[in-house]
Amino acid sequence: MKKRILVVIVALLMVIVGMAAFTACNTCEHRWAYRSEEVLREPTCTQEGEKACSCYNCGAEWTEEIPKIDHDYSMRISTTATCTTGGTSVYRCTMCGQEESKYDSALGHDYSGYFCKRCQKMDEGFSKVEFNSGMFDSSNLFSNSLGSFILSVDAVAGSKDVEVSLFASGKTTGMVVWTAVILNDTEKSFECSLAGSGSLRYGSTTLLSKEGQLENPYSASNNYYIKLTVSKL
Ligand SMILES: [Zn+2]
Ligand SMILES: [Zn+2]
Ligand SMILES: [Zn+2]
Repeated sequence: MKKRILVVIVALLMVIVGMAAFTACNTCEHRWAYRSEEVLREPTCTQEGEKACSCYNCGAEWTEEIPKIDHDYSMRISTTATCTTGGTSVYRCTMCGQEESKYDSALGHDYSGYFCKRCQKMDEGFSKVEFNSGMFDSSNLFSNSLGSFILSVDAVAGSKDVEVSLFASGKTTGMVVWTAVILNDTEKSFECSLAGSGSLRYGSTTLLSKEGQLENPYSASNNYYIKLTVSKL
């Protein structure tokens, strides 16, 4: 009987002591207000630092890791990305010498109107055209689902008068509307836009023609580009 009571008392004591220890630990938490810290080793960009901590409240002492600091990258070599080629930037840490490379993909053209703002390349939709060229100049052959169009652009040097003629061979029958936009690449300028309409007949050739005015007098030393769009009415 006596032995059993003793066992119960011991068990109860153990529970109380355990709870007391748990409570004490929980109450302190080594709060920042009670802390004293001393840096033992400053962190660098390659190694963590260390600090000694102590708690005024409970007297505990321990060490803590200080996280690494960031690399201090400064740019070393760089090639700038262009419309068609990628760029590389190599950054080197001034503290540890570690290098980091950053690749930029090609920017792609940024068209503003008819030309790329960066490299001045012309919109892909334009084809070089020779004024007063023979009508079978292959560079002046356009084609779409409605038919094939041989384009002839006529102008006289020094004059602003221009005529665009389309020899259209229809793949379809019906009314079409067409627009020819002419650009002067040497001056990087818009010259004129001519729009017309006409009827196409399947398997036969039609002449669609329009006269207009260039912004600047035609000069053989300039390069001219034309964008032709033909759509069914
Ligand atoms: Zn404490
Ligand atoms: Zn570093
Ligand atoms: Zn470009």
